[in-house]
Amino acid sequence: LSDRLADTFKNLRTKGKLSASDVDGTVREIRRALLDADVALDVVKEFTGHVRERALGDEVNKALNPAQQVVQIVNEELIAILGGQQRRLEFAKKPPTIIMLAGLQGAGKTTLAGKLSKWLAKDGHTPLLVAADLQRPNAVTQLGVVAEQAGVAIFAPEPGNGVGDPVQVARDSIKYAGVKQHDVVIVDTAGRLGVDAEMMAQAAKIRQAINPDEVLFVIDAMIGQDAVNTAKAFQEGVDFTGVVLTKLDGDARGGAALSVASITGRPIIFASTGEGLDDFEAFHPDRMASRILDLGDILTLIEQAQQNFDEEEARQVAEKFATDTFTLDDFLKQMQQLRNMGSLKKMMGMLPGMGQMKEQLDNFDEREIVRTEAIIQSMTRAERVTPKSLNGSRRLRIAKGSGTTVTEVNSLVNRFEQAAKMMKTVAKGGMPQIPGMGPV
Ligand code: GDP
Ligand code: MG
Repeated sequence: LSDRLADTFKNLRTKGKLSASDVDGTVREIRRALLDADVALDVVKEFTGHVRERALGDEVNKALNPAQQVVQIVNEELIAILGGQQRRLEFAKKPPTIIMLAGLQGAGKTTLAGKLSKWLAKDGHTPLLVAADLQRPNAVTQLGVVAEQAGVAIFAPEPGNGVGDPVQVARDSIKYAGVKQHDVVIVDTAGRLGVDAEMMAQAAKIRQAINPDEVLFVIDAMIGQDAVNTAKAFQEGVDFTGVVLTKLDGDARGGAALSVASITGRPIIFASTGEGLDDFEAFHPDRMASRILDLGDILTLIEQAQQNFDEEEARQVAEKFATDTFTLDDFLKQMQQLRNMGSLKKMMGMLPGMGQMKEQLDNFDEREIVRTEAIIQSMTRAERVTPKSLNGSRRLRIAKGSGTTVTEVNSLVNRFEQAAKMMKTVAKGGMPQIPGMGPV
């Protein structure tokens, strides 16, 4: 999706004033790109209708740069479909907050239960995971494993007590949470491979029995066109207050999100991006829109880094940014740390322009870091602390010393300066730092 849209906009960007046929051509491309990404036809029609209407209107005609204005419109419309504002989890005024998970088998409910509880526990909550999926033989065991990984408590029927009634288990768990003072209860339920009346009735009964503050519909972003029917079935059968998109680490980048958000009118609250318990983030409509538009998702990247970096170190570096004492040595250290962050490639995918550079992702990391290391190590201490002192002859010396070219040295210094500038702004807002991650 992103690549297609990026191409469309590249064509637009090179033009001056827009004619009606420019707009139509672009809208046609957007339509095709969205359909390719498995966005439901009705949603595509509505979306392109809005974009076309606005693109032919006054705001574009009067704009200094009409093409950019169209990009802006597409971005705004994407954000609108995705729910506009970020929607946070609702907590009950009087604990426990009850969160019920619903969705097809394999959607990622049990995994999400673990992710959500770990995330909540980090935030000072005392979640209780409830095994109300008694359909599959090992469902309770799986939830137990997840609970242990997340370091949270679990409520499950005694083994050997027969099949058990999931509605009763859910009901009992709420009482138990009250006694044990768990302030959040997360109820994992059973799913089937396809939508099925019995499963839906059971989920509806559980909902009735425990009256949850949130019912989260968990849906695999990879299921493509089926997303719409599945979401509709769950909305009619159980209804839900929010959506969690899982498997966003796969190829599907926006299709299901657009369809489900648009068709159900329910906000997407979380995004799940991998099998690990930390591969999970709050869903931000504006960032998803940027991701779809291939503008990159710097903020998500920064948030992920926030979880991974040592907090104290992050604080120190933020201080350095804020006080303008961040040096090339620090820059190098940060780059080296990125190497330890595991899913470097996943993160690269979120950087601006990287959607078009997928083939380069494979050989980016190591060589770039090695080259950066060589260049910085060829500088004197004073130069690393005061990059402004790097005049032409010094840069030539450094290039020779590191076996690189002056162009490469210049590019590194530029990236350092850009990163320092950007991060200085970010640091003021109390956020951490990821310098030097521009495209090669
Ligand atoms: P449930 O049947 O809805 O409870 O689904 P599970 O939580 O058991 O997940 C089904 C499979 O999907 C498991 O193998 C999970 O590891 C995997 N999974 C869950 N969430 C994600 C995700 O965000 N990304 C990827 N790649 N795999 C996921
Ligand atoms: Mg499960």
